[in-house]
Amino acid sequence: MKSAVAIAIGAHPDDIEFYMAGTLLLLKRAGWEIHYLNVASGNCGSAYWNAAKTRAIRRREAQQAGKILGAHWHPPLCDDLEIFYDINLLRCLAATFREVKPTVVLTHSPQDYMEDHTNTCRLAVTAAFARGMPNFRTRPTRKRRCGLSRHAPRLVRRPPSKNRSWGLREHDFCPRNEAPGFGLSPQSKGMAGCQSGNGFLFEIDG
Ligand SMILES: [Zn+2]
Repeated sequence: MKSAVAIAIGAHPDDIEFYMAGTLLLLKRAGWEIHYLNVASGNCGSAYWNAAKTRAIRRREAQQAGKILGAHWHPPLCDDLEIFYDINLLRCLAATFREVKPTVVLTHSPQDYMEDHTNTCRLAVTAAFARGMPNFRTRPTRKRRCGLSRHAPRLVRRPPSKNRSWGLREHDFCPRNEAPGFGLSPQSKGMAGCQSGNGFLFEIDG
């Protein structure tokens, strides 16, 4: 069974690069299989090009970023400003979780200036919950992960421990952020110089 698998889930093209790419690179260097998924297409990311052209440009950029990272790239699920905490997106994201079987998820903070970001975080957390529930239907249909416990995602303050090392050093992670309602952990800015914002990661207890 694959165990060292991480997925970064950003709302828009460039979010992973700003918030999570440093962590992904460290995990990749430590031997992890890494995945790259933007929920939205980036179609509103230009005041010059129309939506179709912008969507195509941002898709190429994202694919190139994934290639540079050495990550498995996944296509976006919707357009910008259309990331809502709804059943369609949840079914799609849960299918990806069952396919990829990540043990670590990097995503946005639940506290953020933009709802596309916070909704992405909510969708990622619920998709992680749904991964082992056989009665939850995904789109496309994916079987739940075999042998996986149905416990909630285990929220991690720091990864390295004597019996469970992620291949990263403890000081690569900063102290816990006390985000109300979520016990998720912020990534340290020190994990990568390219991270200018606050991303979050959680571990799925398998
Ligand atoms: Zn964004």
